[in-house]
Parts: sequence; structure tokens; C-alpha cells
Amino acid sequence: MSTTMQVELFERINPEEYQSVIFCNDRRVGLKAIIAIHNSNLGPGTGGCRMYPYKDTTAAVEDVLRLSKGMSYKAAISGLKLGGAKAVIIGNPKTDKTPELLKRFGQFVENLHGQYITAKDVGITGEDLMMVREQTRHILGIEGLAGSSGDPSPMTAFGVFNGMKAAARHAFGEAALKGKRIAVQGLGYVSYSLVRQLVNEGASVVGADVDNASVARFQREFGIDIVSPDNILAEKCDILSPNALGAVINAQSIPQIQAKVIAGAANNQLATDEDGFELMRRGIVYAPDYAINAGGLINIYHERGGYDAARAMDHTGGIYRTIEEVLARADKENLPPHRIADRIAEERIAAGSAAIKG
Ligand code: NAD
Repeated sequence: MSTTMQVELFERINPEEYQSVIFCNDRRVGLKAIIAIHNSNLGPGTGGCRMYPYKDTTAAVEDVLRLSKGMSYKAAISGLKLGGAKAVIIGNPKTDKTPELLKRFGQFVENLHGQYITAKDVGITGEDLMMVREQTRHILGIEGLAGSSGDPSPMTAFGVFNGMKAAARHAFGEAALKGKRIAVQGLGYVSYSLVRQLVNEGASVVGADVDNASVARFQREFGIDIVSPDNILAEKCDILSPNALGAVINAQSIPQIQAKVIAGAANNQLATDEDGFELMRRGIVYAPDYAINAGGLINIYHERGGYDAARAMDHTGGIYRTIEEVLARADKENLPPHRIADRIAEERIAAGSAAIKG
């Protein structure tokens, strides 16, 4: 690495913002990983481990910093006694992953004595986590293991369903989704549970996916309408639910959006901060992504001390109140909801865990 690049990396890691950034290097097993603990005012830094073939170390650092900060905000807005952290392993998950590499990563996690709690993310499977777990106790969300909370998607969907109702109440004066036309982008795991709840509630659902098998399954099981993925964002509807990709709310898509509410599970839905302001100007109610999609994180939080599904569900149902609070305050302070969500999260992080109930 060039000296300039090293200087840039040190400059990028603002010590006032990030608590610690740990570089995990073991040539013997080919491990290059970075663990970023953004903040632990509210509890141990918690966040999944991602494996991805980053083009260089700078790109990996950028990603882990951004993601770990996002976890702090998500935990704080959800009222969890958890801090924000994330890990990235630099490498191709298809070709570079070995049991030795995963176990060595587990040792690095264990050496942090619980300051960092790891979990699954892109490029890491449940089986991989079992390897990591051989070396560390500081791990959550291993599907299939006794005491685990299992697949997070149904809980994520339950949170989106509740947050959507709060946003509907704000926009239309009533939380009921019966008779509402809801456009769903992406017919994957989260949408599967979400669409079932929407259809049961009497909503009219129109969906789109690039994968024909998913489309066929949703048509067969739920009898929903289907449009082309190119048209779903512009579909005439009351509510738009992005459940596929990030950055779909952008300068190109916003003028085409017919919905009065945007409420979905996808991460980083707004391409830019300005896009959130533009939605506000157009009177489109936006449920901030990391607040409405926190059901998965809330679910693994309730693994601590023995998984309690009822408490996890009750807590996830509270996403209704979170979205309600964010939207009410957004109106009062005349700021877009995504900015208000950040503000609430920052206030809670500054106040510390003693201010969090439960
Ligand atoms: P998934 O991969 O099961 O589903 C995504 C679906 O979107 C796939 O069926 C894919 O074919 C489809 N898709 C991709 N590009 C598309 C396009 N251009 N147009 C339409 N469809 C497209 O993922 P998931 O687990 O259902 O998660 C959905 C979103 O929610 C993702 O953005 C994910 O990061 C986010 N999220 C998921 C969870 C969770 O618990 N699974 C938690 C928080 C956030």
C-alpha cells in the first residue's frame, strides 16, 4: 500500500466518530478482514460479517465504516441496547472461503472479548457461521442452531407490515391496508411474508421481479398482479414497497412515482440525501429504511439469554410506533423523515443505554 493511501485511510477513519477499526491479517490462511466498531454507548457493537471481493483495501474500509455506522443507527432507532459494528472479509466468497479462514476470523472476534458480536451478511452462510462459532461465543443469528431465531425475513416483513400501517395512517388517516393498491418491487424472501400479510388484510398487490420463477410462485400462491420490473416504480398505487435493491428512489424515479407512501425493506433506498427532501416536497410519505426494516436485527437481539419469539414479535410490532414518531416529528420540524430518524438515533446514542427501557 502506498504511503499516500495509508495517510488517506487514517484520515478517513475519524476517531471522534469511530470507536475502533481492527485490521485482521493472517497470510497463512489468506485472511484479510476489517472489523469496525462505530459506537458502543448503547451496548456491544453488533453487525454481520460480509465477504466480498473489494477492489482494494480503501473500498473495504469505506464499506465497513458506512455499514457499521448504519448498524448503530438501526439499533438506536429500534430501542435496542446494542451498538453498531460490522466486519468485512476481503475475498471472493465462492472461491476464497475456507474453514481455516473462517475459524481464524472467529479467533479475531473472540479476542475482542464481546466488544464485537458478529452475525451473517452478504457472502456468509449459516454453515460458515458454524465454523466461526468454533472459535467465538460472540455470535448471533445462526439459523438452524438450537436457541437461534432462524430466518430473519419473516420478522423483517412483520416489521415492514407494521411500519407501512403507521405510514398509511399518516398519509391516508387510517392504518387499515384493506383496499389499498400496493406495488411491491422484488419478490424474494421478505416480500414472500409481506405479501401474504397484505393479501390477508385485503390489500390489492401488484409485484415485479427479474426472476421468472419468483414471479410464477407469487402468482400461484397469492394470485397477485404482475408488471414488468421496468414499470413497477411508476405503477399507479397508494403504497410503493421497495424490497429488492438500494438507491431505487432517485432523481429519475421520483417524478414517476404515483404512490403517496414508500415503505419497504430494501437498504439505502434513497440514492441521495436530497432525494429525501424531494419526496417531502412532493408530499410522499417515506418510512426510513433502516427504521422499518429492523425486524431482523430485533429478532437476533432477542436471542441473547435464550430466544424469546413472543418478545421479538412484540418488539418488532413496535416499529409501528417508531414510524409514527418519526413521521409526526418530521411534520413538526419540517424536515424529511430520513433526517428525523437520524436525529432520533443520534440523540439516543448520545444519551446512552441507561435511557433505554427493557
Ligand atoms: P431476496 O434476495 O430474497 O429478494 C430480492 C428479490 O429482488 C429477488 O427475488 C430478486 O430477483 C429481485 N430483484 C433484483 N433486482 C430486481 C429488479 N431490478 N426489479 C425487481 N426485482 C428485482 O432478498 P430479501 O431477503 O427478500 O431482502 C429484500 C431487501 O430487503 C434487500 O434489499 C435486503 O437487503 C433488505 N433487507 C432484508 C432483510 C431480511 O431479513 N432478509 C433485513 C433487512 C433488509
